[in-house]
Amino acid sequence: MIEELRNEIRRFVREDPGNGFADGSGPYFAEPLVGIAAAADPLFRDYKTIIGPFYLLPQELLASAASVICWVLPIVQPTRASNRLQSQGPSREWALTRSHGEAFNGALRRHLVAWLEGRGGEAAAPQFSPLWREFAETPVGIASNWSERHTAYVAGLGTFSLNDGFITEKGMAHRCGSVITDLSLPPSPRPYPNHLDNCLYHRNGSCGACIGRCPVQALSYSGHDKERCRAFVYGAAPQALAETYGVAQTGCGLCQTRVPCEAAIPLSGRTLPV
Ligand code: SF4
Ligand code: SF4
Repeated sequence: MIEELRNEIRRFVREDPGNGFADGSGPYFAEPLVGIAAAADPLFRDYKTIIGPFYLLPQELLASAASVICWVLPIVQPTRASNRLQSQGPSREWALTRSHGEAFNGALRRHLVAWLEGRGGEAAAPQFSPLWREFAETPVGIASNWSERHTAYVAGLGTFSLNDGFITEKGMAHRCGSVITDLSLPPSPRPYPNHLDNCLYHRNGSCGACIGRCPVQALSYSGHDKERCRAFVYGAAPQALAETYGVAQTGCGLCQTRVPCEAAIPLSGRTLPV
């Protein structure tokens, strides 16, 4: 079943016309990574302490939850390359991926729920749950009651980083998603020694390349100023570029491109991805 599921996610990403720039220049996303988290994994309960008591367990979103299916959609090389050239705001390709590519990610969530239900199961996409909420003031700053990246961590897909990104074997430039199912699937291993190991700064004190990429000084060796970042990503950047690019959301992603963790887990030094 797990292979059938993985193949269906890959097939949808490969074949659905929603995964493609309107001008026919290519897809938003390359082949996805897929991981499975056990709904009963104690980490989900730990998030109620680490993130806040408002954080939802899989079982609070789907009473019959047994597993959480997670995926990472790597952003294609030409889009990453276009954003590497930027210094004050995202490229057009990046903004289209943030806006229309994320709409495709939503279609993947809906497709997977329908696919699982079509096999007689129960499924739910937390992102579309009426319970999904965002909280402005929490001990960890702005936070939602379900995080796709925190779920992907439970599913062994990567680790967090200095800039609050999520570094996978395909790097940090991606979108991710999850669907809860009543299917009992074998959970994926978490192969990393700790929750920050894929980030060079946290691993050995080197790097910090993302700090210099931020146009609004939201990054430092102390970490990520979420509010300053958010003011740019949801304020200044779309105000300046959304109309020009013809999108509602532009994203930013400057700290996810032209950095060693852009498209791989960095092994050493400040090498740029090819
Ligand atoms: S650029 Fe370097 S310091 Fe920043 S998140 Fe990536 S690996 Fe970590
Ligand atoms: S997403 Fe943009 S604004 Fe936010 S930290 Fe990264 S570079 Fe800075």
